[in-house]
Parts: sequence; structure tokens; C-alpha cells
Amino acid sequence: MFGNDFEISRLAIPAVSILISFLAYTSQYFFLHFESVPLRKDEVWKINIFALCIWVCYLRSCYVDPGRLPASQKNANTSPEEKAQATRRQRWCRRCEAYKPPRAHHCKACQRCIPKMDHHCPWTSNCVSHFTFPHFFRFLFYAVVGMGYLETLIWERVSFVWGARNLPSYLGPSVGQLVHLFLLFVVNSVTVLALFILLVRTLYSILFNITTIESWEIERHETLVRRARVLGGYLDGPAGQRFRIKKQEFPYDVGIFSNMSQAMGGTSNIFSWFWPFTATPDRKSGWEFPVNDFEAPGVTWPPLDPDRIPFPAQTPSTTDSPMMKTYTSAREQVEAFKRRQSDDMNRRRPFSKVQRRKRFHDRFEKIDQNQSEDEGQPGPIYGDDSDDGEESWRNADGERLQDFGVDEDVEFYDEDDIPLGVLMEQRRQA
Ligand SMILES: [Zn+2]
Ligand SMILES: [Zn+2]
Repeated sequence: MFGNDFEISRLAIPAVSILISFLAYTSQYFFLHFESVPLRKDEVWKINIFALCIWVCYLRSCYVDPGRLPASQKNANTSPEEKAQATRRQRWCRRCEAYKPPRAHHCKACQRCIPKMDHHCPWTSNCVSHFTFPHFFRFLFYAVVGMGYLETLIWERVSFVWGARNLPSYLGPSVGQLVHLFLLFVVNSVTVLALFILLVRTLYSILFNITTIESWEIERHETLVRRARVLGGYLDGPAGQRFRIKKQEFPYDVGIFSNMSQAMGGTSNIFSWFWPFTATPDRKSGWEFPVNDFEAPGVTWPPLDPDRIPFPAQTPSTTDSPMMKTYTSAREQVEAFKRRQSDDMNRRRPFSKVQRRKRFHDRFEKIDQNQSEDEGQPGPIYGDDSDDGEESWRNADGERLQDFGVDEDVEFYDEDDIPLGVLMEQRRQA
């Protein structure tokens, strides 16, 4: 559904516009000329009001800016004191070269980190994000309600034609009318069904405050927990590290009504959730989100995933190996972390040389056959479109991370070379 081919996606907005026009306007032309079942005045009004709502919400879904990290935020929360105090991991985007706020992801098409990115929608050529989600939801809502209404009008005519099928054909509609009616019926039924399914999925994500990408992360975490259960609670990271995997609760579900108002732009005014001209959410919002109390403070989302930690850089580091070093204070550790980070920034490793991790099942078979495990050595360097690594892991719907439009190289292998969270984890284990 979420293709990679962004050239084709340029045709998406014109194609959807043609579809809306075909259903909304040629249907009226048909109804007005199909005298056997006359069109009432209120029906004309309703069709056109629904069409107007669909146009407004669709165009806003396409053209409202999905958000960008303001310059003032780029280096926010980077002072060592603040970092030592906040034991939580700060995610770092290697493409934007900036801190990645919670729930943000780097979109391949938009070429930047998008706040609370849900997915990059090929049908609007835009990201569904903290800022565009309310427009996208209203578009789906009006499309389903409006096309559902149109379906009843079409069905009235279809059943009339079917009832009159035994009458002489010169009394019935012309061939052109029959073809037009058939096309309207098929196109409208298929589209309204597909959008209805999407609306139900979107409602689920509103009620539980889980974005499409986050539901993938939840499934991924459940898989890791299952794997760890088989392997004694631990999973291997790159370069021979081992990590304890614990079941973690999703933190952003803060109750149904709060979830709903957060998704719809932070307002509890239910009328404004459905009003097509409601303002886009405040541009100051979208960088921080309230969390529930299920996890201890400092536990971050997404959960620790040893497969998503890139291999340590192969170039000799100017500092001591972080694996061996012990720190006397958290502050010293943070300073060392910052130093390594700036070293890594200076090295600017080319992205085409992302070292992908072997698939878990390939590694697992090796352990099973008691063969020497070669994970201690960096694996081969694959090209950008490789399917050979663990990044090709798919959820139950068969979707991998890149299917949501994110830049997989910086999203799957998203951790810093030595993330703070991992340093803390190692300290706890030591
Ligand atoms: Zn980014
Ligand atoms: Zn995007």
C-alpha cells in the first residue's frame, strides 16, 4: 500500500481528485437524467455539501505542512546536566543531524523528521503527522459518510433497473446510462469499503493513541520478548554485547478521551473535531507527549532493540573503547558520550555503508547447530535496498518499517553509536 515509488505518487493527488469529481458530479448528472427515479432537491444539497467537506479536508491533508523541528529545538535538552538528570535516551537523527523528539520519525519523502509521524500517505503525497492527522481523519470520515450516502442513492437506481429487467428494452435506460450506473456502483462500492476499513483502523489508532508506526514497534517488541524467552531472557547485540529484554508497556495511551482530544489537535471541543475548517494544531505542540504511569520514569519508547543498534564504527576511535571503560560518575559518562558523538559526527560515515545485522533466524540456526557465532565481527556491508538484514522483519500484516514511508537506514538502525540508554543499561548490569 505504501509504495516506494515517489514518481508515481505525483499522480496520486490528480487521480484522487478525478475520483472525487467522478463520484460527486457525474453521479448528479446521471441522477438528473434518469427520470424513472427522480432526484429530490434535498438530495442534491446533501451530495454537494458532502463533496465540499471532502474537498476541503482532502486538500488540507495534502497541503498542510506536516511539521518540522524548529531551529530553537534542534539542540534542546543537550546540556550535560539535563542529560544526566534525565536518564532517558535521546534519539538522534543522522540525516537531520538533530535530536529526534519522542514519536518523531524521519520520512524518506519529506526528507526530514516529522513529529508524531503516523505514515507517509501516498494518496495525499503528504505525511500523516501530529499536524495533519485531524485533517486526514476528517477526510476519511466525510469520504465514508458521503460515499455511504451516495451508495444508497445509487442502490435505489440499481434496484429499479433490476426490477424492470423483463420490460421491453426501449422503455428502460440507454446503454450509456447502464454503463455509467454500473461504473458508479462498482467504483463507489469498492472505494467506500476500502476507506471504511482505513477509517476503522484510524479510529483504533485514535482511541489507543498508537500511530501506525508505533503499532509496528509494539509487534516488534512482542517478537523480541518471545525470542528472549527462548534464549534465557537475553538477546545479542552487535559486537558481542548482550541485553536483557523485558516486557514494556506502551507509554502514550493516557485514557480514551485524552487520547482522542490529543489526536484531534489537543482540543476537547467535539464539534471542532468534525468541522472541516478547524485550525491546524498549534505549531508549538507535537514535541512532547504525556505518558501513563505503567513504566518507571526513564524507560523510553521504542523499547531497547539490540538488532537496531548499528555496529560500532570500524575507524579507530580517538577515545577509549566505551565497552571496556568504567566511569566513576554519570557526569563523566555523559561527557564521554558527547565526545564520542561529536567524533562520530566528524567522521560522517556514508549512509550507503550501513552495516545491517543478519536476520535473527539465520543467527539462531547457527547457535542451534553449535557453530561458532560470528556476530562479534561486523557483518558484510550491504547496499541500500538490501533485504538480507534484520531490517526486513515484517509484522503480521507483512509490513516492514520502510512501508510506512520512513527512511529505514536511519530509522531501523536508529540508535546512536553508543546510546545513553545502552550505557546506563551496561552500568546497571555491571
Ligand atoms: Zn531526521
Ligand atoms: Zn512524509
